[in-house]
Amino acid sequence: MKPIKKRLLTPGPTMVPERVLEALSRPTLYHRSPEFKEVFLETRELLSKVMRTEGEVLILTSSGTGAMEAAVSNLFQPGDSAIVVVGGKFGQRWEELCRVYSINPIVINVEWGRAVDIEDVERALKENPDVKGVLVQICETSTGTIHDVRGIGELLKNYPDVLLVADGITAYGVYDIPTDEWGIDVAVTGSQKALMTPPGLAVITLSKRAVERIKPRNYYFDLKKEIKQQNKGQTAYTTATNLVVALNEALKMIVEEGLENVAKRHKVLAEATREGVKALGLELLSSNPANGVTAVRCPEGINGQEIVRVAREKYGVTIAGGQEHLKGKIFRLSHMGYVDQFDVLTGLEVTEFALKELGYEGFKFGDSVRAAMEVFYKNGV
Ligand SMILES: *Cc1c(COP(=O)(O)O)cnc(C)c1O
Repeated sequence: MKPIKKRLLTPGPTMVPERVLEALSRPTLYHRSPEFKEVFLETRELLSKVMRTEGEVLILTSSGTGAMEAAVSNLFQPGDSAIVVVGGKFGQRWEELCRVYSINPIVINVEWGRAVDIEDVERALKENPDVKGVLVQICETSTGTIHDVRGIGELLKNYPDVLLVADGITAYGVYDIPTDEWGIDVAVTGSQKALMTPPGLAVITLSKRAVERIKPRNYYFDLKKEIKQQNKGQTAYTTATNLVVALNEALKMIVEEGLENVAKRHKVLAEATREGVKALGLELLSSNPANGVTAVRCPEGINGQEIVRVAREKYGVTIAGGQEHLKGKIFRLSHMGYVDQFDVLTGLEVTEFALKELGYEGFKFGDSVRAAMEVFYKNGV
């Protein structure tokens, strides 16, 4: 039986709700029109609410990496040092960005799948009294691991000159994160992950002391110019107006569901996924697994890329493989954004089909689904 539906279970882009698709299909607005100005300012307010910050919130027209680049290129100067937590593909991206902008990265290497040890951050701070920032992921998507950014923020209360820069691209919209309370000076996120909008927009928030630190070194991502423009309901250059209208709708959905409920939903979806794969005799990659995406170690002798291929070609379900040295070794099931219990069950069923087809014998059909259903039932879903 050939599948007649395509299902997207990757950690970005993610599935887009019908309401958001409808918003996306509205006629394009002129980016200098009063109608757009109204939507734009409201979208920034909604972002402040969802990201729980009273700092500046800027919408950038780029993928998430653009906001990462904006952070690095506006807040640090050549010769500055910054502590960088590297526990996966996206930690590496911080490091690479630092090098491109002549910032000296003091790298804390973390085994992929583990969370950074706060004591290592503390040691790096003590050994390098001149550092200007700590760059970290809240969720390292490549390994499905959550870092203790709250703990790092706590630590940094004793270091008033060190900015905490957190990549929350697969954390905002999955967890209820009090950005200001945690001491996050700069948070970045993107439209295409838990914010349930197609790819193309990035968001960056800036605390007061981060704003004071801005010295742009990049023409397009000049945050000084953006702050000035965006506070008037404008952007420096043409933004993706349709995407802003779509993001506005998606953020309204998040606010309507309630941040706490959104976080609780993701917690249950993640727990069900974890219990499901464990019931197949498989292991999680992460010792501190995140609620947005689950990275699973492949059974002995089975290539993760094959699981991904079978899922897509035969069942119409797109899941993700591993990156870099984890390629072939893991596969990743996303459960962030517009996801409910039936999407999780679908992801597990497809995993079972693919594993069976590839010759893995360690389970009986339905094992993962039953374990996940138990979690849902226990949680009153
Ligand atoms: C997706 C993602 C990014 C940004 O990637 P883009 O492809 O540029 O949108 C950055 N960090 C993390 C943790 C991500 O998951």
